Amino acid sequence: EEKAAELALTSRYKSEFLANMSHELRTPLNSILILGQQLAENPDTNLSPRQVEFAKTIHAAGTDLLHLISDILDLSKIESGTVTVDSEEISFAHLRENLERSFRHDAERRNLEFSVDVAPELGRSLSTDPKRLQQILKNLLSNALKFTEDGSVRLKARPATSGWTPGHVILDKAPMVVAFEVSDTGIGISPEKQRIVFEAFQQADAGTSRKYGGTGLGLAISREIAGLLGGELKLTSAVGEGSTFILYLPLNYVGADSAHEARAQAAMPMPTALPQTSSQPFEQVPDDRTSILPGDPSLLVIEDDPRYATILRDLARSSGFKVLVAHRGAEGLRLVREYRPTAITLDVFLPDMLGWTVLARLKQDSDTRHIPVQIVTVEEERHQSIERGAFSYLAKPADTESIEAALERIKQYALPRVKRLLIVEDDPAERMSIEELIRHDDISIDTVGSGAEALDALQNSNYDCVVLDLRLPDMTGFELLDKLQDQPQLRDVPVVVFTGKDLSAAEDARLKKAAKSVVIKGVESPERLLDETALFLHRVIGDLPPAKRQMVQRLHESDDALKEKRVLVVDDDVRNIFALSSVLERHGMDVVTAGNGQEAVDKVAADRDIALVLMDIMMPGMDGYDTMRAIREDPDSRALPIVALTAKAMKGDREKCLEAGASDYLAKPVVTDQLLGVLRQWLHR
Ligand code: ADP
Repeated sequence: EEKAAELALTSRYKSEFLANMSHELRTPLNSILILGQQLAENPDTNLSPRQVEFAKTIHAAGTDLLHLISDILDLSKIESGTVTVDSEEISFAHLRENLERSFRHDAERRNLEFSVDVAPELGRSLSTDPKRLQQILKNLLSNALKFTEDGSVRLKARPATSGWTPGHVILDKAPMVVAFEVSDTGIGISPEKQRIVFEAFQQADAGTSRKYGGTGLGLAISREIAGLLGGELKLTSAVGEGSTFILYLPLNYVGADSAHEARAQAAMPMPTALPQTSSQPFEQVPDDRTSILPGDPSLLVIEDDPRYATILRDLARSSGFKVLVAHRGAEGLRLVREYRPTAITLDVFLPDMLGWTVLARLKQDSDTRHIPVQIVTVEEERHQSIERGAFSYLAKPADTESIEAALERIKQYALPRVKRLLIVEDDPAERMSIEELIRHDDISIDTVGSGAEALDALQNSNYDCVVLDLRLPDMTGFELLDKLQDQPQLRDVPVVVFTGKDLSAAEDARLKKAAKSVVIKGVESPERLLDETALFLHRVIGDLPPAKRQMVQRLHESDDALKEKRVLVVDDDVRNIFALSSVLERHGMDVVTAGNGQEAVDKVAADRDIALVLMDIMMPGMDGYDTMRAIREDPDSRALPIVALTAKAMKGDREKCLEAGASDYLAKPVVTDQLLGVLRQWLHR
């Protein structure tokens, strides 16, 4: 027992040391990568082609170093037993699609035949840790492609009854074993090297490997993960003919404890009852994911409380929905991609991220933007929900009747139908150009020329969105907005105010004030008008005519959302501040900086124009967590977006960040495109 306790302690020290070391290594890498990339882009066009080549090499070398660090960390974490298995159900179709997407292009480029086949006897899905499984398969496939000059690379998944080491504790007892077979017609591996390629840093032939590149860690990690997942990795190969790697896995992952036993190859009988997977703290509410057919109306329930999820599921089923249930935000986003549900109900408090982040991600992606989302939140956040593109909100706790009514409403809404838009504009030329901009066969447009007509139209029929000009003949747009606010059934109709000209400071202030009660957006450009109305009308971006689709996409990739926004960069490392600032400034942002936590808190309190904070977590003295908590204490800063930057090394970092008040989370070293994506997402609306 004493020895075991000692071992546990050393292994904890070891992983803490590695986590810190990897952070220390990543911090300087951060500047190398960002500045290298920036130089390579040669924005001021003052570098010679040779110098650009140097910059590209610096960036590429930095990227290799980063992979190496991540691999070492990964391997040590697995070896020290600090890695948990996040088992979930994953469909073979999804897996195949993913792998094909990753390798098809590469294979074509190298003129290799490439195929991924799944035997139908395996059924629809398996349950294991999808990230880890893909890590192994991707490593095997990229090796196969790397070491094959001509011929083919194939992945076959099939049921297996033998092939693994006899006496394997888990595989021998598993009701069904799946074999993932990766075979190539490449250079092959000689018998005496077949064992050592699984060792860390070992390559079959240092000479050839140098030709092919690589770290020699991939197979070592793959073998460890295979064990962790309760399976085994086997190899057969002949020099000059090719290699076949086979990964055997139980079709259903059977839990952490038994996987550890298998790693030790202890010949103990398997308990008959399968142990609970320790990494699944939530009781998964059974849903309809295996019985959804194309065309079925489906509702995705993202809700961490299993009891409430069950209630919603049952009510939704009786309203005619097939139901999917996710208990965490990330899982919800994954299910959206995989199943494309008709509608979503989303709780704001989730264990891994705020519902607002989930909503922002859905609305940022043109493939998922049209799916109506009902937010489950408190009354005070009603307005915020609609403004951010939610279809409706439901106050919690809700009674059965109101849930049923809400489900019915969202179901009706999601039915294929033409959405209705009202344009309030008296100038005929303007009216025509707005109509031209928005018109398509998914929308029916009515136009009126005065405030009185607008009120009349809104009272007598249902519109999904209103476009409003502030200058009207009979009343100002502001008066109309006031009238809308007085009528509870009209205050949730989203209004997009299209001015076409700059508003005076007084008008602007008035619009902002009105926007606190009625859902309105002021836009100046036609692109923004198209984009905002598309959001509120839940238009399918992919179905718009190409020119308009491009307009929306360009807007999302443009710097519009970033320009002139003030961002506070908090970091104790001046090189990092410099690297980040130069990227942000290049995209038109106004950067202010703070070198420690206290300075950050003071700056946020003193400067209300700060639109977003980028917060480094590891700072001496007051760290990022404490700083975020201190910022959130001020009621005026509750809604300020704070993006935390941290080394992804420690388990639970993400949860800790969100708990301390971060709105989002980025792992270091920061990838420029990812950073800009996250900033656009938070600053766009
Ligand atoms: P890396 O590919 O980064 O060198 P790996 O651990 O993935 O590291 O592989 C170790 C070695 O095993 C490779 O360097 C190579 O010599 C050999 N190897 C792996 N896969 C194949 C394959 N499909 N064909 C031939 N040799 C292979």
